[in-house]
Amino acid sequence: MTDYLTPRDIDDFVEQIKTNYLECRVHGHSRVASSAGRIADEESEGLPPGIEYILKTMRCRNRCGIIWREVLNADTGEVVNYAVPDYTKAPYYLTKGMGRLTKTDRGRLRLEHLARWMEKNGG
Ligand SMILES: [Zn+2]
Repeated sequence: MTDYLTPRDIDDFVEQIKTNYLECRVHGHSRVASSAGRIADEESEGLPPGIEYILKTMRCRNRCGIIWREVLNADTGEVVNYAVPDYTKAPYYLTKGMGRLTKTDRGRLRLEHLARWMEKNGG
């Protein structure tokens, strides 16, 4: 189950968001591989049989907690199932009730990110 932030508005959101989440919101996630292994039972994963698959998992360098799982054809490297983000280990990353962020909202996030960065780095 995913836990959601439920901010009232952008001010509330900016106040509540964790700094590493802010980093990902402003600069994007920084994905790195964290594990890889053959899929032993392709049929239970809903994949066509007779092909070897690799399950690759990725995490974010910013430690936001989001995990991506991608399935590759082990012989060709072709991506069979594109990475879908799993937010269950990133509580309160997602918001409920705010809708999509506007251009102005994204500007607020950038300024908040900069303010926290300058406070930490003496910029
Ligand atoms: Zn991230």
